[in-house]
Amino acid sequence: MRIVHTINEIRQSVLGKKQQNARVGLVPTMGALHAGHGSLVEAAVEECDFVVVSIFVNPTQFGPSEDFEKYPRTLDTDAAYCEQLGADIIFAPSADQMYPAEQLTWVDTEKLTEVLCGQSRPGHFRGVTTVCAKLFNIVQPDLAYFGQKDAQQAIVIQRMVKDLNMPLEIHICPIVREDDGLAMSSRNKYLSADQRKQALCLYKALTECQSQVAAGQRQVALLIDAMKQVIQQHQGQIDYISIVDPQTLDSLEQIKQKALVLVAVNIGKTRLIDNLSIDLNTPANPI
Ligand code: AMP
Repeated sequence: MRIVHTINEIRQSVLGKKQQNARVGLVPTMGALHAGHGSLVEAAVEECDFVVVSIFVNPTQFGPSEDFEKYPRTLDTDAAYCEQLGADIIFAPSADQMYPAEQLTWVDTEKLTEVLCGQSRPGHFRGVTTVCAKLFNIVQPDLAYFGQKDAQQAIVIQRMVKDLNMPLEIHICPIVREDDGLAMSSRNKYLSADQRKQALCLYKALTECQSQVAAGQRQVALLIDAMKQVIQQHQGQIDYISIVDPQTLDSLEQIKQKALVLVAVNIGKTRLIDNLSIDLNTPANPI
């Protein structure tokens, strides 16, 4: 497995493979890889002939008071992990490679980015869509892999690809959790032992919601109240708890068929997110 740092190198490698009709998969990440990322790489290795993992802590998706500087950077262990999973190449560009001059052109998906994390993190999704558009143009993958963990991001990227006729398919992979249910996240590294216990409130709130829905509760306000209680019992600072239409992200009052339940909670200074998909037409799986 190779590690390359420049746009020229990754383009040359992919071009060579494309000339041999290889199906190219891209897994965009910010590194500090864990088994959640690993599941995306595994899916790509299974479905593609040539798998690119990009590792880039993208400055334009962080707000001025967010954790860009302290975000964990662990390229050596990330590379070993990707190699073990069967990835073919890591593209780990510098910020200067990706943003050599002042960026005057941005990709902005409207409406879907104005709610939930978009409301709490102004400019975040503009940074995400812009860097993904750049990565798609640089790597030109046939398939790109994203996690359901970042549900709003997955919806926004799918919409960007559709609206801009980008010639690739987006695959969304299920959330990978720790044994006790905490969704894996690079930011879990920030948690102290006590905070790690508190952090379980996101998962507990979602499972509470799931069991109330299974018992027949359909009123969103009551479901949100129940989740709020679980999170407050653990001293989590709620950023938002929302139950929305999974396509439009519009808030629901009642669950009629499909719904996406999303939570964002600050545990100390660490902002964690998690979500649950509901479909009343299919039996609920334990999350
Ligand atoms: P990040 O490095 O946080 O930007 O994440 C890179 C990709 O990995 C995104 O598509 C995430 O949704 C996905 N991802 C992160 N955590 C998980 C998880 N626990 N399960 C599945 N996918 C994940």
